[in-house]
This record gives sequence, C-alpha cells and structure tokens, in this order.
Amino acid sequence: MRIYVLKNTNHLNHIKKRLLYKIKKQNYFKKYQAEKKVYFKKYRKTEKFKKSHRISHWKGAGVIDHYNDKYNTLYRIYTIQKICSICYKIFNTEKVMDYKCLDHCHKSGLMRRICCNYCNLHIIK
Ligand SMILES: [Zn+2]
Repeated sequence: MRIYVLKNTNHLNHIKKRLLYKIKKQNYFKKYQAEKKVYFKKYRKTEKFKKSHRISHWKGAGVIDHYNDKYNTLYRIYTIQKICSICYKIFNTEKVMDYKCLDHCHKSGLMRRICCNYCNLHIIK
C-alpha cells in the first residue's frame, strides 16, 4: 500500500482534488436550492406572480383575451368583483366551493361572468 501511495501520489492527488471539487459543487448546489426555495416562497405572495399565474391558467383553459390588452382588463374585472354574480356569496379562499372563478363559454372562449366555484360547477348555463 505504502509503495503504491509513493508511486502514485500524482494520481491520488488528482482523485482527491476531484472529490473535493465534487463536494464543493454539491454544497453550492444545496445552498443555491435553499436560496431559490426562500426566494420563490416570497415571490409567490407578490401581486405580479398572482396575476401571471392566473392569466396562464386562463390561457390553458381557453379563455380568449377579447380586449386585446394582454388580459389586463379581464384581470382588473376579476380582481374588483368581491361577490358571486349568481348567488351573491362573498368569495373565500379557505373554502374550495367559495373560490372565485371566471366563467367562460367553451365554444367561443369569451368570458361570461365571475362566480363562485359552486355556481361554476353546478349551474347549467
Ligand atoms: Zn355562487
């Protein structure tokens, strides 16, 4: 073993260096991940995130931006309204059936009204 070490010091040093580099990289990555998590937790609470998240959800659902202003008017209408336009219930983020929903026509993609989740799911249009 000793002879091997003496003969191959260069090679062993190389392995050691590589291992150290790997550990350093892993630690950096862990630290970066933790920072990213904290940053994203904060960012999720901002108005900017809420807006872009809501709009991307609408795009996925097929809501058409018929005002042609990057969904700004639709979003403004959506944020202003505080009660359901069918049952007049106040929106609540804690109860699933009281969530605010944008009701839209599935054929044309146009917005119909803003209502609670219950009305959106149960009332036949
Ligand atoms: Zn309702």
